[in-house]
Amino acid sequence: MRIDLHTHSTASDGTEAPGEVLAAAAAAGLDVVALTDHDTTVGWDEASESARRHGIDLVLGTEVSARAHGISIHLLSYLQDPSHSALTAELDKTRDARVGRARAMVELLAQDYPITWDDVVAQSHDAVVLGRPHIADALVARGIVPDRNAAFARLLRADGPYHVPHYAPAGVDAVRAIRASGGVPVFAHPGADARGEVVPDAVFDALADAGLAGLEVAHRDHSPAQRARLTAIAQRLGLLVTGSSDYHGSGKSNRLGENLTDPEVLAAIEDQGTTKVVRS
Ligand code: AMP
Ligand code: FE
Ligand code: FE
Ligand code: ZN
Repeated sequence: MRIDLHTHSTASDGTEAPGEVLAAAAAAGLDVVALTDHDTTVGWDEASESARRHGIDLVLGTEVSARAHGISIHLLSYLQDPSHSALTAELDKTRDARVGRARAMVELLAQDYPITWDDVVAQSHDAVVLGRPHIADALVARGIVPDRNAAFARLLRADGPYHVPHYAPAGVDAVRAIRASGGVPVFAHPGADARGEVVPDAVFDALADAGLAGLEVAHRDHSPAQRARLTAIAQRLGLLVTGSSDYHGSGKSNRLGENLTDPEVLAAIEDQGTTKVVRS
């Protein structure tokens, strides 16, 4: 069983439509894939239809933006009720805040580079969630940087001069909202220290107390040292351990199936979730 529990579509900052992500996952030989766009469930219907057509099982999810210890963190929510207000209210607030934040970042960038808000809108296509990758694509289209990676490294990184934070719920509140909505919360890439500062151990204890179900340990942004640290934390707190690609289409070099989750772990997630896995 090849199970990949973290992918993005054009609903957020991936480059393939939800149906295309499912087609690509089937073509990559996956048995199960999760669609986890940032702060939205808008791709779920198209993905479900495509999963049945391509004969692949689908775990419906969302990657929820949150904050802890002054750091931006991501919590994967699997199999929640997509209409439950506990989570939708937070996601609505975050998506709204992301628009003002993106505008503020473009204003800062425009002082030094030839980039406009319309450039970013043009790159966001059918996204309902605006993120730094769309600003990166606008910088690439203008020839200011060669690719998304360079845009982040030179201009968009969290500790850079053009970065503006956006509203996101506290991690413990996001975990509680995910659980209240019948979802299963898994901390996404918690040790991705190349992207910036990562949270200290005490944050894992607080999130576990709030109802966290698991940690995404097998992820390309984790060094061997971070994997060892996270595996030990998961054991200490009795958390599930997942692995995933964090596929963004051509927007990142991450390849579908490059990290996988054990079938027993998926079974535990499905047991705890409200929405059923879409079986092909
Ligand atoms: P935002 O949600 O607007 O803060 O942007 C974060 C998103 O940017 C992440 O979900 C990744 O998809 C993407 N990202 C972060 N770091 C990089 C990087 N170094 N290169 C390319 N994309 C990145
Ligand atoms: Fe992303
Ligand atoms: Fe993430
Ligand atoms: Zn992601």
